[in-house]
Amino acid sequence: MIPNILSIAGSDPSGGAGIQADLKAISANGGYGMAALTGLTVQNTQGVRAAQLLAPDFVAAQVAAVFDDIRVDAVKIGMLGSAAIVHAVAEVLTGRGVPVVLDPVMVAKGGDRLLAEDAVAALRAALVPIATVITPNLPEAADLLGIPEAATEDDMLRQGEALAALAALGAGAVLLKGGHLSGADSPDLFLSSGTRVWLPAPRVATANTHGTGCTLSAALATQLALCRDPLQAAREAKAYTLGAIRGAGRLTVGRGHGPTDH
Ligand code: PLP
Repeated sequence: MIPNILSIAGSDPSGGAGIQADLKAISANGGYGMAALTGLTVQNTQGVRAAQLLAPDFVAAQVAAVFDDIRVDAVKIGMLGSAAIVHAVAEVLTGRGVPVVLDPVMVAKGGDRLLAEDAVAALRAALVPIATVITPNLPEAADLLGIPEAATEDDMLRQGEALAALAALGAGAVLLKGGHLSGADSPDLFLSSGTRVWLPAPRVATANTHGTGCTLSAALATQLALCRDPLQAAREAKAYTLGAIRGAGRLTVGRGHGPTDH
């Protein structure tokens, strides 16, 4: 059976991140992709020029319309933009009984904010508890916890434990992404109740990392719908994303942070 995967995220017209990346990653992982938009960005590989959010009710109405008609096997949440959209999405997803992968998108690769600062607390309080897996990178983990960013694997372990305690409010798991560490490797850390597993990966020297977080979380939602095991799904999604980063050199898309290859 082909799983139906709903992405709730923003649009990136350059195709490297947001719902455009999600739909490609969902298809490539064997799912049928659907997308409820939270907002539009005006951007290319060099940066975000503007962003416009949709009304929170309108975001929730898209999600409800999909659920009213279609079996949803997993949800991926990406850019939400505001605290009001965070609350609207939490409300419309509560009680649906489907796996939810929450990518707590806060800042684009070029440094532009994609989530209002006052929305971080809302994300922590309303969405982390209903997520099956959260996939923060190190700056996002630091923001969620309100502490400085991890610089070592020991810091990562400590922050992973703190996030796991937050995620455990809803029986969730954490995939803490170590791509922002400075070493030769780019290890991720998977944590769920009683499980701590390092998922090692080499660092790939490339500027084409635009949308890697989107790609990973959409692949993870699809794999989760297929195998129902968060750790196994994380391994598959990570392998897929590494392949997409390695293949990015085949693309000639823009002059900034280029997209990965799906
Ligand atoms: N969602 C949207 C709409 C974006 O434009 C971006 C980055 O530009 C992201 C999410 C996050 O991208 P990344 O996967 O590179 O962290």
